[in-house]
Amino acid sequence: MKIAVVGTGYVGLVTGTCLAETGNDVVCVDINVQKVEKMKAGELPIYEPGLEQIFHRNISQGRLHFTTNLAEAIAEAKIIFLALPTPPGGDGAADLSYVLGAAKDIAKLITDYKVIVTKSTVPVGTADKVRAVMSPETTVEFAVVSNPEFLREGVAVEDFMKPDRVVVGTTDERARKLMGELYGPYVRQGNPVIFMDERSSELTKYAANSFLATKISFMNEIANMCELVGADVDMVRRGIGADERIGKRFLFAGIGYGGSCFPKDVQALAKSAEEHQYDFKILNSVMSVNEIQKKVLVEKVKKYYNGELKGKHFALWGLAFKPETDDIREAPALYIIDELIEAGATVTAFDPEAMPNIKAVVGDKITYGTNAYDTLENADALLILTEWSLFRTPDFDKLSATLNSKVIFDGRNLYDLDKMIDCGFYYNSIGRKVVG
Ligand code: NAD
Repeated sequence: MKIAVVGTGYVGLVTGTCLAETGNDVVCVDINVQKVEKMKAGELPIYEPGLEQIFHRNISQGRLHFTTNLAEAIAEAKIIFLALPTPPGGDGAADLSYVLGAAKDIAKLITDYKVIVTKSTVPVGTADKVRAVMSPETTVEFAVVSNPEFLREGVAVEDFMKPDRVVVGTTDERARKLMGELYGPYVRQGNPVIFMDERSSELTKYAANSFLATKISFMNEIANMCELVGADVDMVRRGIGADERIGKRFLFAGIGYGGSCFPKDVQALAKSAEEHQYDFKILNSVMSVNEIQKKVLVEKVKKYYNGELKGKHFALWGLAFKPETDDIREAPALYIIDELIEAGATVTAFDPEAMPNIKAVVGDKITYGTNAYDTLENADALLILTEWSLFRTPDFDKLSATLNSKVIFDGRNLYDLDKMIDCGFYYNSIGRKVVG
C-alpha cells in the first residue's frame, strides 16, 4: 500500500519505517529541512533500539523515502498518517494547530479518496475538527480516522511490529477495510485490532496514559508512606504485584513520571474534563503527587547537607526521562539540575544517549562526563536519575575510590540495601530504609 507519514519524530519515523518493513511504500514528510537531509543521507535523527537496521534496510530496498514536500509525499498515498506534535497550550489543553494546519494543507492538495489518520494524541472531538477544516478546502471524498499510538520509546519498534492491540476509530467502511488490511501483518498472532467510533478511540489513548500515570503516582505515595512507617516499597510492590488483578508492571516507585506523553496527556484530559464542567478529581491528584515526587530526591539531598549545598559537587547518572531513549522532554533530571545549581552546587552528569539533548537545553551550566566513572571524580555524592542497565551492577570499589564521600541518592532503587551496607555506603533511595 502507498502510505504517507506527516511528521518524522519518535512516532512518525517509527511508524513510517515499520510500515515499510511489511512491504508498504512509505514517504515520510517533515518541515525540518535539516532532519530530512540527515535521513536522506541515511542518518537516524533519534536513538531508538532496533530502528537503525530496519531504517537502512527499507531505504536501500526503496520502500522508505523522505521529503520536505507535502504535495509530493501524499500524491500517491492511499493513507496519510498525521504524527505531529500536540504540545500543551498555555491552558494545558492540547495544541491542535499542527494537526489542523497540516489537515487543511492536505485538503487543498488531494485529488482522489484519501484516508487521513490521526496518530498524534488528540482530545475527543478532534476527528470532527479535522473534517471541519478540510471540508471547505476540497470537493474530493476523504475519511478521517483516529488511530492512537501506544508505542513506548525505548521499545518502540517491538511495540509497533507486535502491538498488544491496535485501536482504530472510524465510521467509514472503506477506511475500516483499508486500516484492517494495513495492520493485518502486525497482529498475526491474534492480538486484536479494535474498531470503534472516533470519539471512543480518541479517549482510549488519554485513558490509557492517565491510568498508567495514576499507577505511578499511587506507588509513589505508597513509597512515601513506606518511609514514614518503616516499610519497604519493593516488598510492598512484589506483594501487591503478584495479584493478577493488579499486575507486576508499572509499579516501581521513583522520582515522578516524565517524558513527552504522560505529563501532557494527563493535563490535557483534566483540561478536557474541565471544559465539560467535570472535575476529574483523581487526575488532579495524580498531577499534584507527581509535582511533589519530582522534588523528593533533592529534598533528601538538602536534608543530608542541612540545607547547605553551596560548594558541593554532585555526579548525576542518567538524564533521559527513562532508559533506552535519548528523550529528555519533562525528564526529572532537568528539574533536579536546576534545583542543585540554584542552591549553589555544581554538577557533572553522564547519560549513554541523552547528553547531546541535555547539552542543547542546559549548556555549560553543568559539566559532562565521558563515562560513568569519570563523572564521579571530585563528587561529594552520586545521584541516580535514570535506570539504565549499565548503572545496575557498577564496580562499587571503583565508586568508593573515586567519589569524595561514599554517598548515593538513588531515585530509581537500583541497589540492594544489604549490598550497600556491606560496601559501606550512605544510601538513600525511594520508599526504603536509609542505610549507612
Ligand atoms: P516529535 O516532536 O518527536 O515529532 C514531531 C515531528 O513533526 C517533528 O519532526 C517536527 O519537525 C514535525 N512537524 C511539525 N510540524 C510539521 C508539519 N506541518 N509538517 C510536517 N512535519 C511537521 O513528536 P512525537 O514524540 O513523535 O509525538 C507525535 C505525537 O504522537 C504527539 O501527539 C504525541 O503525544 C503522540 N505520541 C507520542 C509517543 C512518544 O512516545 N513519543 C507515543 C504515543 C503517542
